[in-house]
Amino acid sequence: MAPENVLLELRGVRRAFDGPAGPLPVLDGVDFTLRAGEAAAVTGPSGCGKSTLLQLMGTLDRPDAGQVLLDGADTAGLSPGALAGLRNRTIGFVFQFHHLLPQCTVLENALVPVLERARAADARARALALLDRVGLAGRADHRPGELSGGERQRAAVVRALVNRPRLLLADEPTGALNEAAADSLADLLVELQRDEGLALVVVTHAPAVARRFGAQWTLHNGKLVSA
Ligand code: ADP
Ligand code: MG
Repeated sequence: MAPENVLLELRGVRRAFDGPAGPLPVLDGVDFTLRAGEAAAVTGPSGCGKSTLLQLMGTLDRPDAGQVLLDGADTAGLSPGALAGLRNRTIGFVFQFHHLLPQCTVLENALVPVLERARAADARARALALLDRVGLAGRADHRPGELSGGERQRAAVVRALVNRPRLLLADEPTGALNEAAADSLADLLVELQRDEGLALVVVTHAPAVARRFGAQWTLHNGKLVSA
């Protein structure tokens, strides 16, 4: 474990994308520290770089400069295989759109991250317990098309947590939901963060959603500032 239980650290992270008039800096020196069990929210208008930041936090993208440390390891020094292993053990992801497989049941979807052990009793028990926890116990054998938008997002949360990650990264998790379903999903994320001792980063353009989660940050001119 890293000093003081630091789970995720970004140091001077920069990321630019090619635009018509040359490279367009999106992240311009981001510093960020998240300890085990802590929650943080990142807000900012559409296009300011929130998803770019979350991809870097999740080691799905690499910075042009700066460091991303996960559980004390500088991820730049890891082979792709070692990085994938660390990511799969440590991080769960939830996105704006559920990305559930339409031909699979809710339970099968929940077991996708543990495919090689999906038949193992402990993996199934964990998935079923989580489905119960999020109010989907009666939906395990349904297909995503039979669920409401809020139920699909809750199934996606179960899939993200089935592997017992210590860090949950959520990119606009309520962005496709109506207000009531968004409220209820935000409540659920807050409860799961507390009960499972999860570290959580929620990225959202909605300040009302952000306020539900721990430390408040905003992306401004490519830098993360306290909101
Ligand atoms: P947000 O999530 O805050 O809406 P994004 O991180 O998706 O913002 O995008 C920030 C900026 O970076 C936008 O201008 C977007 O067009 C640009 N961008 C994001 N990803 C890429 C990419 N893979 N290639 C080129 N430009 C990108
Ligand atoms: Mg985005």
